[in-house]
Amino acid sequence: MGSVYLDYNATTPVDRRVLEVMMPYFTEKFGNASSKTHSFGWIAEDAVEQAREQTASLLNATPHEIIFTSGATESINMALKGVFEAYSSKGNHIIVLQTEHKAVLDVCRYLESRGAEITYLPVDRQGSADPEALIKAVKASTILISAIYANNETGTIQPVKEIGQIAHRNNILFMCDATQAAGKVIVDVVSDRIDILALSAHKIYGPKGTGALYIRRRDPRVTLVPFIHGGGHERGFRSGTLNVPGIVGLGAACALAKEEMWDDNMRISSMRTFLEQELLAIGNVYVNGSQKQRLPNTTHLSFEGISNSSLIKELPEIAVATGSACTSAAESPSHVLKAMQVEDALIKGSVRFSLGRFTREEDIEYTIGKVRTAVNKLRGKHL
Ligand code: PLP
Repeated sequence: MGSVYLDYNATTPVDRRVLEVMMPYFTEKFGNASSKTHSFGWIAEDAVEQAREQTASLLNATPHEIIFTSGATESINMALKGVFEAYSSKGNHIIVLQTEHKAVLDVCRYLESRGAEITYLPVDRQGSADPEALIKAVKASTILISAIYANNETGTIQPVKEIGQIAHRNNILFMCDATQAAGKVIVDVVSDRIDILALSAHKIYGPKGTGALYIRRRDPRVTLVPFIHGGGHERGFRSGTLNVPGIVGLGAACALAKEEMWDDNMRISSMRTFLEQELLAIGNVYVNGSQKQRLPNTTHLSFEGISNSSLIKELPEIAVATGSACTSAAESPSHVLKAMQVEDALIKGSVRFSLGRFTREEDIEYTIGKVRTAVNKLRGKHL
């Protein structure tokens, strides 16, 4: 057995069917989607517009509500900074969850330096936000509520519909970082009352460096001040020559996710449950986050009495994560688990297993055996 990849929340391989659709747009269909005077441009533009439809369809949005970006980090920057500037006459207060991704939290820190007031809303032990606490946090100056749809570390899914209703009732914009949720669970911007949403292709078997931002056009029509100028592409929200192959890849990935989500989830969640149950059976192993409101592919476990770094050293052939891919290099304890008030000793022993479309049952059997042996060895027990 070679390496087993159980880090799909960090990134996914490009699905070969997605790659196949992308390939011609690097070579014979290389046109600039903004070239209006010849067929090379028209072909590229048609492909981009098809991808816009596919991306919109995954979210129950309309195509003209989708802007293509370089990924979720850019989408989130565009949304938070753009709203802060566009709605400054209404107020300067933004509410975010403590368990947001750093792509949101770091922008909030920056906005604080520009005069924003940010409320970092606590979560409970399961990682869920309390709608009542959210209502209490709302002020006359609140312009935006931001909530991560599904957490990248624990997979916990927020009560998005309730948050959307609270925002709507109070005439506040609702932004959702759906980077981990879109394509894995049904995300519906209409019934969830989401006004702005970020997603990324590389989490759903599309290419890295491509993402999208959904910006609601009606009820209310959201305005953002753009921060990339030069040419007025993407309806002036995001200038720059479009990454046609990447966008085509995102569209194809969205279409596949929509079509195969149910079957993928049935298979993946049953493997995830088996993995989780077998690892819990080792003893003194705990699940972090909600087991009810959770992504079907994620289990985040704490192994009492051992450190995750020593466990990972014992598992060189298994790709799993501690923290999120972007922050694990920093080696600081997970802000998500801290916000959930997980004890330090359990944070130290926490590992994320995230499965995906190409995970096989034998990968899970192999992982269970290896983890069991490693945990027993590190705890000084020999079988
Ligand atoms: N938000 C969440 C929840 C994520 O998991 C990630 C990726 O790690 C991001 C945002 C950033 O996405 P991207 O890599 O497309 O910039």
